Amino acid sequence: MATFNLYEDQSEFVEQLRAALRAGAKSVLGVASPAFGKTVVAGHIIAMAREKSDATAWFIVHRKNLLRQTSKSFWGAQIEHGLLTSGRARSRLAVQVGTIGTVHSRLESLTPPSILFVDEAHLSKGSMFERVIQWALDAGSIVIGLTGTPERLDGQALGGLFEVMVEARSTHWLIQQGRLSGYDMYSTGVEPDLSGVKKSGNDYNRDQLAEAMDKPMLVGDAISHWRRHANGMRTVAYCVNVKHSKHTAEAFNAAGIPAVHVDADTTEAELKDACEGLADGRYLILCNCELVIEGFDLSAQVGKDITLECCILLRPTQSVARYLQMVFRALRRKPRPAIILDHAGCAMRHGLPDDDREWSLEGRKKGRRASSDDTEVRVQQCPHCYHVFRPGVAECPSCGEPVERKEARKIEVVEGELAKVDADLFRKTARKEQGQSRDLEDLIALGSRRGMRNPAAWAVNVHCARQGRKPTKDDYGNANRIAKGMAQ
Ligand SMILES: [Zn+2]
Repeated sequence: MATFNLYEDQSEFVEQLRAALRAGAKSVLGVASPAFGKTVVAGHIIAMAREKSDATAWFIVHRKNLLRQTSKSFWGAQIEHGLLTSGRARSRLAVQVGTIGTVHSRLESLTPPSILFVDEAHLSKGSMFERVIQWALDAGSIVIGLTGTPERLDGQALGGLFEVMVEARSTHWLIQQGRLSGYDMYSTGVEPDLSGVKKSGNDYNRDQLAEAMDKPMLVGDAISHWRRHANGMRTVAYCVNVKHSKHTAEAFNAAGIPAVHVDADTTEAELKDACEGLADGRYLILCNCELVIEGFDLSAQVGKDITLECCILLRPTQSVARYLQMVFRALRRKPRPAIILDHAGCAMRHGLPDDDREWSLEGRKKGRRASSDDTEVRVQQCPHCYHVFRPGVAECPSCGEPVERKEARKIEVVEGELAKVDADLFRKTARKEQGQSRDLEDLIALGSRRGMRNPAAWAVNVHCARQGRKPTKDDYGNANRIAKGMAQ
């Protein structure tokens, strides 16, 4: 039998996901802190489903290095599976781990699985992901999206793809329980000067940002900070672009600190060497811009219980999701707190990594930063050692020097029971609303109200499930006709 040993909070999360599905949802977005162990949760659900039925399940990732990582942890739990990836012939196994590109390009020849997991689902509103998810939903599959930051990098909503969202225990709770590593965060005394950097698309203009950040002085600053706070620690550095990342690696090497750069053109063998080099101490600094981010787990990559200990932020971003995805690479469970060196003004802009954040399927709230509840100070910095901490104390938690006591930001979320309460509440409202929708037409209208992308298909699934039968082609045709009529 396949086995994963789950932490209690992971089991709880499994229960929440199942509750949402039992309540009739066909697509659920599961939100859990980065480094929570979402692959383990998915593997557990797959193993449970396989024990009871001949259900098929896929786990889709967006990068090949995550495919290998997931595959390794599935084999570790004795989940037999095939790989849906380029250069591999398709196996007939019921469980598949795949990359989005390959699955998308082979859609015509594939049969949708009973359960489709989409990893790092905040990236899922790209057209490929959207098409694959819709394809699965149309065929009656259950879709479970997993993410630590349920917001697209551009702040767009995920609600069109997912009907409901369930949230695991908060990051803050996980850190307090020792499930994730604690951290000490230091910021530079001065925020980077981004006055000449315009916004383009969803974030800063990359070329202009690189110009502002790729300066010998800033990189030199990063080196001296690292020496002071994180000397000898296994470190990942996030840079603006490939050139900036290469320059940063060169500078560390020139200072006698072994560093390696990786990017999308890095071969598998080179990435493997970089990871193993970090694990065995040949390298101390891994420089990159966007390769080693979502889902990257050093221990799973090298098959040893080894983790990143320090994260250097040299990449300012307007996206809280991107910020958190970077920082959390260093927050996997370990004995010592992680060191976060913020040279990019991220903490001042986005708050501390374990601030309680309110996510929704509707996307980023417009003008949230300017709203009244943000006037309180979220983050304070020690003028002596540049430590960044939550306000409300009279002494710097790092160096002990007296600091001005500022009012802490109110944390609205009640510790502990929140996750459970949410699931219950969801179940009740969803059931009530859905229960009140008597016929197919009502259900289609409800689906439209909830902003579903294909309300007709969803309505058919719920409708037929009520009658205890599988939907037929005619059912879909009929529902599509009704939906069309309603739209006119
Ligand atoms: Zn201090």
